[in-house]
Amino acid sequence: MLAPFKKPIGLRRWLFYLTLSALLPALVFAGHAILEFDRVARAAVIDNLEHRSTALQQSLEQMIKVATTTVGVLADSDSAQTGDWRGLYDQAKRSISHDGPVRAVSLVDGNGDVIFHTSTPFGVALFKANDKASVDAALQQGRISVSGAFKAPISPKSVVAVSVPLMQGGQIRHVLRAIILTESIDSLLAEAKLPEDWVAGVTDSRGTLLARSLGSEKFVGTPASASFLEGMRRGGGKPFKGSTLEGVRTTFVVMPVQGGDWFLGLSVPESVLGAPLDRALAELAGFGLLWFALALTMAYAFGTYIIRQAQVLVDAVKAQPVVLRAPVALGVNEFTALLRGVTAVQDREAESTKQMFAARAQRDEVFDLYENAPCGYHSLDRQGRLVRMNATALGWLGYRWDEVQGRPMMDLLTPDSQARFTETFPRFLQTEHIEGVELMLVRKDGSTFPASINATAIKDAEGNLISSRSTVFDITEHKRLEAQLNLLARTDTLTGLSNLRDFVERGERELRRHQRHAASLAVLMMDIDHFKTINDRYGHDGGDLVLAEVAKSCTAVLRNIDLVARVGGEEFALMLPETTVESAAEVADRLRQSLASLSVVLPTGQTVSLTVSIGVAMCLATDAGLDAGLKRADLALYQAKEGGRNQVKIAVPSVAPASPV
Ligand code: GH3
Ligand code: MG
Ligand code: MG
Repeated sequence: MLAPFKKPIGLRRWLFYLTLSALLPALVFAGHAILEFDRVARAAVIDNLEHRSTALQQSLEQMIKVATTTVGVLADSDSAQTGDWRGLYDQAKRSISHDGPVRAVSLVDGNGDVIFHTSTPFGVALFKANDKASVDAALQQGRISVSGAFKAPISPKSVVAVSVPLMQGGQIRHVLRAIILTESIDSLLAEAKLPEDWVAGVTDSRGTLLARSLGSEKFVGTPASASFLEGMRRGGGKPFKGSTLEGVRTTFVVMPVQGGDWFLGLSVPESVLGAPLDRALAELAGFGLLWFALALTMAYAFGTYIIRQAQVLVDAVKAQPVVLRAPVALGVNEFTALLRGVTAVQDREAESTKQMFAARAQRDEVFDLYENAPCGYHSLDRQGRLVRMNATALGWLGYRWDEVQGRPMMDLLTPDSQARFTETFPRFLQTEHIEGVELMLVRKDGSTFPASINATAIKDAEGNLISSRSTVFDITEHKRLEAQLNLLARTDTLTGLSNLRDFVERGERELRRHQRHAASLAVLMMDIDHFKTINDRYGHDGGDLVLAEVAKSCTAVLRNIDLVARVGGEEFALMLPETTVESAAEVADRLRQSLASLSVVLPTGQTVSLTVSIGVAMCLATDAGLDAGLKRADLALYQAKEGGRNQVKIAVPSVAPASPV
């Protein structure tokens, strides 16, 4: 069963993931950088907060110091020391400058009654001093004390008082007070030019607000926020988190002023502290989003582009035959290279297809040549068994291939040829080549035919013989012609008898055989008498006819084993095997008589008679060759001619041959 097909991820999505993953480290780095930036920015703001708090604390203490100094100078004056309150009043009035923080000076006795107040004429003011606690602190502890806010009975304005003890003769019975408008604290806070949303507040020792940089009308005179009060309790002036009266979350610094008579609080909202982070995060988010959108767009665009390129490539691969010869719109190097590869492969494929067809045609042609060649082909394995045979050879033998496949070659040979094959085949395995081996092949119907075989060894890469490859030629006709030629070469065409060459060859063999067996062999030379006359009288053709008839008569008179040949114009040589000189003389004479009685009838109707002369000689054991005997017979023939023709002469010596050599 096929495995379930897993849907692949689309190229565009894959590219998108890739872009995102490439983006991730940048985002992490950016996040880290922003957090670090946030930490540094916060630290800088807190630093600023502490710095400004200290500056404001110093400004407030400076303002109090100015008031203290103003009143301190009055306290040390002669009028004060001598109890000259009128003089002190005048001096106090003069000491109040319009640009300083002190608006009025009052003198308070030990009961808290106001002896004079510079804002009213001397002797008029008869009222109790406000914020008695600060007066008491100056009276009893002899220290400078700063009061909380109170409404001056002589004006609706909110004020604070700096109480300085007045020492007279080592005793403190009175307190001089410098009156400061709380507005002065407000303007001091305003002068500090705090950054937007920062809030500064000043309270008395109990935590009631004397001044506030924001909403002073609403909050001055009311208790400071719980966080402020907490800061007062905690002390130390260290930044801490809390919330303002408006409920805004802030970071506070609360510091004591003038040893804890007042407290200064400065706060910066969380929104300001966190602003750089928020801004950076917003920017990062904006850039991230932009980046994300860009990545998405690019992934989509690039994915689409790649897919289009791939489609062109796929079209190119599918195109059969190649149709993309012209430069196509492939804009990526790798794709172009791929396309070139594809077209190259297609080219090679087309070329190899062409070559394959050509090779196939060639193979068919070779196969046809092999099968139907005018000669036979067969292959044998090492054991001499048939592994292949062409149609021509099978046709000659009358077999189908399956009838001879794997059979030994010996099965197709005559017994003689089997012997020759047995002798030749091992030699062939050694020499790997053999030529012109003539064998008699046996057809399926039992008939035979001669064949000439050439064979070559076929070997594998290691040089081992795989098979033999043999060409087989049917030499029936060749053999027939050869036999015919042989016959012609040995025959006298006019008479059909052997010619001189045949006579000599066979005679030599007979001579050697007779010499071996000590048998007697007679040779005769015969010549027609006055043949010229016959020719002259009956013409050359007549002469020829006579010659043919003489030949026939010879054959008729002689035995089968005897040999007669025409060796010259009208000369005949005869050989009589196993024949004594007496028998030979007898045969010769019988022949002479037979020919003398012959009457040759010519086509003209004329009859021709003739005689012959014959010389008889015996071959001797000492004869080197046939020639010697023939010469002696020729000599005897000459003697017969000399003796008057139509007779037989016996050559001398004509003794029986000596014992064999
Ligand atoms: P003799 O008794 O001495 O033998 O006399 P002859 O006339 O037979 O003399 P010779 O043997 O010298 O002459 C042979 C003649 O035979 C000469 C030649 O014209 C003739 N002759 C040779 N060959 C042929 C042949 O093939 N056909 C014919 N018709 N005549 C031939
Ligand atoms: Mg002659
Ligand atoms: Mg003659």
